[in-house]
Parts: sequence; structure tokens; C-alpha cells
Amino acid sequence: MFDNDGEWDMATLAVRAGQVRSQESEHGEAIFPTSSYVFASAAEAAARFAGEIPGNIYSRFTNPTVRTFEQRLAAMEGAEACVATASGMAAILALCMGLLRSGDHLVASRSIFGTTVILFNKYLARFGIETSFVDLTDLSQWQAALRPNTRLLFLETPSNPLTEVADIRQLADLAHDQGALLAVDNCLCTPVLQRPLALGADIIIHSATKYLDGQGRCVGGAVLGDAKQVGEEVFGVLRTCGPSMSPFNAWVFLKGLETLQVRMQAHCRNADELARRLQDHPQVERVYHPSLESHPQHGLAQRQQAGSGGVLAFDIKGGREAAWGVIDSTCLLSITANLGDVKSTITHPATTTHGRLSPEERQQIGLGEGLLRLSVGLESIEDIWNDLLRGLNRSA
Ligand SMILES: *Cc1c(COP(=O)(O)O)cnc(C)c1O
Repeated sequence: MFDNDGEWDMATLAVRAGQVRSQESEHGEAIFPTSSYVFASAAEAAARFAGEIPGNIYSRFTNPTVRTFEQRLAAMEGAEACVATASGMAAILALCMGLLRSGDHLVASRSIFGTTVILFNKYLARFGIETSFVDLTDLSQWQAALRPNTRLLFLETPSNPLTEVADIRQLADLAHDQGALLAVDNCLCTPVLQRPLALGADIIIHSATKYLDGQGRCVGGAVLGDAKQVGEEVFGVLRTCGPSMSPFNAWVFLKGLETLQVRMQAHCRNADELARRLQDHPQVERVYHPSLESHPQHGLAQRQQAGSGGVLAFDIKGGREAAWGVIDSTCLLSITANLGDVKSTITHPATTTHGRLSPEERQQIGLGEGLLRLSVGLESIEDIWNDLLRGLNRSA
């Protein structure tokens, strides 16, 4: 029998961890579509409600399929506790509700997911939590933004779409000197390429919607960390506020985790090759991907990550018109803002994902009108390249 407490490699954990077989001895993980659970007696019901004995009560708090997903992802990230949520945004909300209170201060990277910025600026602000935004890679800005009431530092690395890389170890030390926590949204790397807790971070956020699923089917998320902060505080938010993951989605994500390592390696291979080819194309001004020696944090990414990731961006000569021309010349790539799918996707960030920013704000983060972002999928690299070449050569 597989022992969940054994010392296993990532590939093994991804396939095996967390599974508990029912009395039916099923080989594949079972889905438990049940909202509640029955008790053997009134006394057992009372003891479970009182928390005196462990066991399921209601699927807003615990469900066996969701628990299998939580334990598998926790094993892969090296975390004590994992709480699965209905979406990646629900994970970030549950984290903030669980660990912050009115009067607290948060420091976040300026280049985080756009909806996370709105969550912090519009909704957390209403409840008396203020956020300062800093440049992801500028340690002095993080330092200068700290206040006595700073409780949380929040970042994504690499950033999307410009793939800037932050030094997790350095920012964890900075947070801890201040008595604050460091949360890393590990969506772009997944535990296969980067394990933030091992680098000193306290909390990991996932949008399972992206690479964990990997095939664009379900929306979900997770918060990972220690038994107290995540296992109790964040879990308490889930139990009371209810942004829980459905067992059907948990099952799909379990199947996604099983192939995560081979998929991530293949995404990286395709993206590395595409970055190199794009860099040599005369119509391309600049390519953003940590695999390239021209990337400002190439060395850091090599040390901190086990691969450069499947997301890359590039600036094309000719601004918006040329960028839209490349998009409209494709017949293979999907024109969608989603990422982490086996299907390659292409986006014009300035008019979609970052369209709500002002031109000045976009300029501040270095996101121009000629920028295109690719989430490089698992189709043939030659077919992806030819699909881009049609538009690139036309804009020449
Ligand atoms: C998509 C995404 C989220 C939000 O996740 P949802 O599952 O869409 O709610 C958060 N962070 C990053 C980096 C993302 O890409």
C-alpha cells in the first residue's frame, strides 16, 4: 500500500498522494457527490459537531474527493495544510479574510493578476485593509513600503505577461524581519517548477484553473501553508463563508495533477524553443522569457526554478496594428486570455487583460501596445511557429 507519509519524488506524489480507497477497493480515485454525511447515532453526531471526534459533517467543510486533491497538492508543495477553493480568486480572498484584519497593511507586487489588484484596492479597502504596490524586482521598493502594521507581502513570480522574476528567499527574509508573511501565487510555475515554501515563503496560492487542471475544463483554487494559518484560520473562512471546491472539480484537478510534471516539462520545452526563434525574428523587438540570457533575471530564474515556464511575451515592431495583425493571422492558436492549457493561446494584453489600466499605468509596468502574450501549449512546435510566422512576416 502507498504510504502518504513516505519519502517520495514529485512524480510519484502527483500520481499517488492523498488517495484513500473505499471499501469498494477502486483503483481510480472515487468522486463523492454528497452534500452531507450520516452518523451512527445521536451521540456520534453530537461528538462530531463538537469537534471531539474527527469525521465528515457537511461538504462545505470537508469532502473525501476534495481532501484527496488537497493532500496531493500539499504533498507536492511540501505544505502541512491545503484548503481547496471554488476559484483562484476565492483562494486569495480566503487567505486575506483568514489572516488579515481591519487596520492591517499589505504590500503587493504591481504586476499581479489584474483581478487581484481589484480585490485589494476595491474590496479589501472597504474593510480597512490598505495595499501598497511596488515593482516586483526592486527590493528597495518593498523595503520602503513596509509599515509597522504590514502583515502580508504578496507576489507572483514569474509575473504575467512580462515574466519578471522575484527573489523569493530575499523577500521572505524581508517579510519575516518585519513580522509579516510572504504569500506567493505559484500559478505560473506550479510545484513542478518552483516550491516557494522551501524558499522561505509562508503561503502559496494556486489558481487550479490554469496548469493544475491543464486542459481548460474547471475553475478552482487552493491556499497552502502551515497547520495553524491555513489548516485553522483559512479553513475557518471556508467553513463559514463557503467558497468551497465541488467534488467533481476536485476529481478533474486530481487527474490534472497526475500528468502535471510531464506537461510542465513539455510546456517549457516548447516555450524555450519559441522564445529563441522569436528573438531571432527581425519583426520582434524584444522577447520576455526567463530561459533567455537577455532576460534581466535569467540567473535567478535558473537557480530558483526547475524550468522557465510556458508563458512568454514579445514586443513586435509596429505597435497595436501589427500585434492585432499577428493575432488575426493565426488559424491554430486560440485567441483567449486563459493560460496553462494544452492548447496554445495568444492575447494582446494592452486591450484585454490589462485594458482597464490607464496608458500611464501600462507604461509604468512596461506593457506596450505591440506586446503579445503566448501561453505555449503542447501542439507541435513547428505548427505553432508557422502559425505565428504568417502574421510576423506579413507585418514586415
Ligand atoms: C487566473 C489567475 C488567478 C485567478 O484564478 P481564477 O481561478 O480565475 O479565479 C489568480 N492568479 C493568477 C496568477 C492567475 O493567473
